Amino acid sequence: MALLDGEVYEAYRSELLSRYRLLLRTLGNKVPKDKAKQIREAFDFAARAHEGTVRKSGEPYIFHPLAVAQIAAGELGLGATSVISALLHDVVEDTDVTNEDIERKFGSKVASIINGLTKISVVFETVDKDTSVQAENFKKMLLTLGEDLRVILIKLCDRLHNMRTLGSVPEKTKLKIASETLYIYAPLAHRLGLNVIKTEMEDLALKYTDPGSYKEISNKIAESKISRQKYIKEFIEPLTLELKETGINIFEIKGRPKSIYSIHRKMAQQAIPFEEVYDAFAIRVIVDEPIYKEKSDCWRVYSIITDQYRPHEGRLRDWLSRPKNNGYSALHTTVLGPKGRWVEVQIRSKRMDDIAERGLAAHWKYKAAQEGEDPTPQDIAFETWLNAVKDTLENNDLSALDLVNEFKHTLLGEEIYVFTPKGDVKSMPMSSVALDFGFAIHTEVGLKTIGAKVNNKLVPINHPLKNGDIVEIITTQKPRASIQWIDIVKTGRAKSKIREYLKDLRTAEAAVGRKMMEDVFHKQSIEFTEKHIQQLTKYYKYPSSNDFFHDVADSKINLSTDTILEILFKKPNLTEPSEESPVKKEKKRNAGQIVFGEDYETPYSLARCCNPLPGEPIFGFITVSDGVKIHRTTCPNASRLMSQYGYRIIPTSWQKNYDKAFDAQLSVRGIDDVGIVSKIADIISKDLEVNMKSINIRANDDGTFGGRIDVLVNNSQDLEILVNRIKSAHKFIEVSRIENVE
Ligand code: MN
Repeated sequence: MALLDGEVYEAYRSELLSRYRLLLRTLGNKVPKDKAKQIREAFDFAARAHEGTVRKSGEPYIFHPLAVAQIAAGELGLGATSVISALLHDVVEDTDVTNEDIERKFGSKVASIINGLTKISVVFETVDKDTSVQAENFKKMLLTLGEDLRVILIKLCDRLHNMRTLGSVPEKTKLKIASETLYIYAPLAHRLGLNVIKTEMEDLALKYTDPGSYKEISNKIAESKISRQKYIKEFIEPLTLELKETGINIFEIKGRPKSIYSIHRKMAQQAIPFEEVYDAFAIRVIVDEPIYKEKSDCWRVYSIITDQYRPHEGRLRDWLSRPKNNGYSALHTTVLGPKGRWVEVQIRSKRMDDIAERGLAAHWKYKAAQEGEDPTPQDIAFETWLNAVKDTLENNDLSALDLVNEFKHTLLGEEIYVFTPKGDVKSMPMSSVALDFGFAIHTEVGLKTIGAKVNNKLVPINHPLKNGDIVEIITTQKPRASIQWIDIVKTGRAKSKIREYLKDLRTAEAAVGRKMMEDVFHKQSIEFTEKHIQQLTKYYKYPSSNDFFHDVADSKINLSTDTILEILFKKPNLTEPSEESPVKKEKKRNAGQIVFGEDYETPYSLARCCNPLPGEPIFGFITVSDGVKIHRTTCPNASRLMSQYGYRIIPTSWQKNYDKAFDAQLSVRGIDDVGIVSKIADIISKDLEVNMKSINIRANDDGTFGGRIDVLVNNSQDLEILVNRIKSAHKFIEVSRIENVE
């Protein structure tokens, strides 16, 4: 290892070698000789190329590609080509090595994967100049989905390792990377079925955006470990004998806590403490039987469990018959376990478990298909999804930003299954409406849709669809699509088909307008030249002559000969139609309680969506017209802002000991009790740290009460104390901070 001669590296040398050996062991002995040689060459090549560079943590750079390769092999089960590509993934971007060098030495397959990885990494690792650059980069990454899936898989490994080592990067970059990860990488990993990677990404993102909550939840999970294990043992005991009698091979029964991030999300959504997240863990039963028996065996296990424990009505999820699009297949149910506690039980085969943990993408095409096996239902589900992705990506009219948003919402979300009257099934994004279904059948059908019958009932085109609906689309003779439809439909496919149609329609109408204008010119013997057309377009303030002609056809433009002559010849300096009133300037709060880096002076205001309080983790966001806005790092809008406009984030902190009160709004709900309102008012007014601005609580007919309290507090701790005091006023009361999601 001549390349590690430098003294600095001496200390790292044995560590590096042992990690390299671990990588080889992980790959196992199935690697053919020539590939094994290439892996060694790739490792040496990368080490030499990165020699002399260190990561932010101080480690020699080569540790990073080696770790990425380890994740690819160990956690995704990827093979030699992916490992070689992972080892080399940063050399073209960060060193003098060119893609041609890679191709000459490692062949065209590896070169094309590296090329894909280089294209997308230019993206994120540099500071972006504007929004579209960042979105453009997301787009490039998504495009690689249609090419070689290994590009995206290695990119996810790369991102995971960057998240694991995020501790040593500057605060601003930290928030940006964590937000991007939450916004697109984790959902993408989920979609590809890479559950382990998705979970770790989310947990790490929480650790950096909301360290307090992260610590609290992980501590509580650790504290409750013993009692959890005891409970699981108690749950399993009465089942063991019966399971044995069936002769089904049970591979494993285990109880696992849910991820820190998912517990956190539940606590936030339902405004409940850790102790009340009832499904903080799930019990998993894994059967080990050949593929032809696995489904029926899962159902047999289900019946044994539900004989013992009463199942929760409506909580059976059957992903055995119809796997999720990401390949997930299992039987989930919730039963009433010992001590009257609801417990989620997941039943699946060893094969399904493997797919659930490591992802279908990792297996798909590189394993099953090579060995000539028939595709499983999961393979087909995944392929259907990939085709939908390609469909969306082929739609070129969308701006990169729209595309990324659309991708995020329709292709990374959960899906439902909807049936045609003939029983054909289509999978649709969760939020789809009837009109989306029309477009899912055929563009022609979509464009002519006037309504639908859902489960035999007539519904309008914007009717939201539910899982299992039977939908019949009702059409007319002629297309009916209009611009409003774009807001009605939820799927990218339908949106793009509508846009395409409207664009064609507009072009056709513009041609009519152009002809009308030409006739007017002719009658007056004015030349119909490009110059004259531009003059008119400019006068009426249209972005293009096409838009201008369109409105001519629509009779929105006065075509009288006089007007036209006037515009073109008589008054060349005619004042143009007046602009709107100047943008109103909002008064900025003066600098004071917030510090930007070393800077105390920058004017800013607090974002209304999350009303940050002193003491809470915050960041500054440079808005287009409204100065710097301060958001909480846990603001519902934060991850979108940071991931799409990361370059506009400025690191921000609260100035210590600033004495100014802040607005906070609380919502209270509960079971009505005599005097509860005055009790609450009493608590607030006795609290020396808090000033009440208004209280508005009313009793409802159903015996509950609810309302809103506006208070002035000094910081988040004071608010927390107040919330806890109100909570202790009554057994059945819920208090939460009001957040406005934009
Ligand atoms: Mn990298």
